[in-house]
Amino acid sequence: MISDDIEEILFTPERLKTRVQEIASEINEEYEGKSLLLVGILKGCMYFMADLIRALKVPLAIDFMSISNYGFSTQKTGVVRILKDLEKPIENQHILIVEDVVDTGLTLGYLLKILKERSPASLRVCALLDKPVYRIMRVPVDYRGFELDRRFVVGYGLDYQERYRHFPFICVLKKEICPL
Ligand code: 5GP
Repeated sequence: MISDDIEEILFTPERLKTRVQEIASEINEEYEGKSLLLVGILKGCMYFMADLIRALKVPLAIDFMSISNYGFSTQKTGVVRILKDLEKPIENQHILIVEDVVDTGLTLGYLLKILKERSPASLRVCALLDKPVYRIMRVPVDYRGFELDRRFVVGYGLDYQERYRHFPFICVLKKEICPL
């Protein structure tokens, strides 16, 4: 059973739901009278983005980007590659990047740099999880779900070797399954 791989559940579906609603309320308030383009970073954003947009009341559109980074946290070089870019120009639009985890900040730093060059009206970041202990690059996280320590987590869209994304909660896996 796949549930045998779980060490500990950190965020239950109920807790995730409540927090997503809270973030959505903040966004609804701060973007009142504006329309938004949410840019989801695949694939980790999938559940978060789906729940967040259903709680938003401002007019919005969505698009996605897919980024590949070479290696994991500790070996990260800041070299990222765009696997899928946005469909349209974003000039003069209010952009909100929806990211699963901000860890070293290198992925987000790179994304912010390239999106800024496209002259949006505004550019902000909404991240489900923030791991400030691993930060290498200073990046703004305007909306944050939860702060997390060093633990590597899966579920609610997050994977380990492409598995476990479908868990409705966020959990830590047993060390023998995931040594990260
Ligand atoms: P960074 O901020 O280091 O450039 O990279 C963040 C990316 O690393 C996230 O988008 C995510 O793909 C991956 N990542 C970082 N921490 C975790 C974690 O705890 N679990 C999972 N599944 N991915 C993580």
